[in-house]
Amino acid sequence: MKILVVNCGSSSLKYQLIDMDNESVIAKGLCERIGIEGSKLTHQPSGKDKYVVESPMPDHKVAIQLVMDALQDKEHGVIASVDEISAIGHRVLHGGTTYSESIVVDEDVKRVIRECFDLGPLHNPANLMGIEACEAAMPGKANVAVWDTGFGMAMPEKAYLYAIPYEYYEKYGVRRYGFHGTSHMFVSGEAIKFGGLDPEKAKVIVCHLGNGASISASIGGKCVDTSMGLTPLEGLIMGTRSGDIDAAVVQYICNKENRDVNDVLNILNKKSGVLGISGGVSSDFRDIGAAKEEGNHLAEVALEAFIYRVAKYIGAYTAAMNGVDAIAFTAGVGENDKSTRKAICEYLGYLGVKIDDAANDVRGKNAVISAADSKVKVMLLPTNEELAIARETKRLTE
Ligand code: ADP
Repeated sequence: MKILVVNCGSSSLKYQLIDMDNESVIAKGLCERIGIEGSKLTHQPSGKDKYVVESPMPDHKVAIQLVMDALQDKEHGVIASVDEISAIGHRVLHGGTTYSESIVVDEDVKRVIRECFDLGPLHNPANLMGIEACEAAMPGKANVAVWDTGFGMAMPEKAYLYAIPYEYYEKYGVRRYGFHGTSHMFVSGEAIKFGGLDPEKAKVIVCHLGNGASISASIGGKCVDTSMGLTPLEGLIMGTRSGDIDAAVVQYICNKENRDVNDVLNILNKKSGVLGISGGVSSDFRDIGAAKEEGNHLAEVALEAFIYRVAKYIGAYTAAMNGVDAIAFTAGVGENDKSTRKAICEYLGYLGVKIDDAANDVRGKNAVISAADSKVKVMLLPTNEELAIARETKRLTE
């Protein structure tokens, strides 16, 4: 069974064709600059040369058609016909309060994606375009929506409600949703399997540390809390996002700089985080690390603040669950940066966390990095959102 996984952004489309018999990637690729001059498709069949097509892509429909052509190309293709694709799985950002479970797309699902445009203004319109493009290119095939907010929908009211007038939740769905849900679902599941934990009771904290960063607490794979909120701005310090902040800062900067709320929100989303604290060094954690090594004080503080915030959340989530069995690191920083993992764990001595330096000297593969006598199992577990989406698509369409 072959599943096509599609992840649309406003001007991009990422795809993977996955053979579900052995969960291997047959081909993957990226369409860039959709709707902008200079559109380009980069198609990478596994074990073969890259194939680049430079061709106008006025919209996602044309992009998907080019992907179909590349997949079936005589020289660079990997399938003889579209019939070989069983179903298509889509990453959809926001399902609002309506959807938590993945679902086969019908008109109702499309209506909800549309109704959530306000909640995911950059992603939901693109996600819907991707679905409609696949419907046009592959009529009759099932499209499955896998919600980035799905995992967080299991949070109890005490975790998801903001302490603001309840009417805003009732009228507009203002609550904490959480994002990176597919990653948190996948990695918390992997933690249970790889760590040999109790599938019903395991208390797991997943640290998804990339340019976007979030952390989740789950019991038996069910989310009890997660750090992103109504939007991905809340929670950890990220590459360019501030994470948690006193909301009054917005008004204060508006008044001081004579700016409006949209301007300041843009600053909190795009110019803050480690980029902001470091005085503009970079949003990329490798650059921040390199600047710190060269003696840049603000880069050092940015990294310390990032690590400190993660450690504080781990403490909070341990309290929320009255314990923790395993802590898992994932995404760009979590999978590649042993010194950041170690620095976070150094805050956790009170939990009996002990890192094994030799075991922690690892990148990008499943590993236990804690010492044998550590009271909490600490793991590195690479995330794989595409595979998680493909598994959901298979489960719903088989
Ligand atoms: P996103 O998907 O949110 O763009 P990723 O999960 O791809 O983010 O993570 C990207 C981040 O991971 C970048 O800031 C990059 O610097 C960081 N990263 C990758 N490798 C390393 C490394 N070896 N050390 C430190 N940071 C790294």
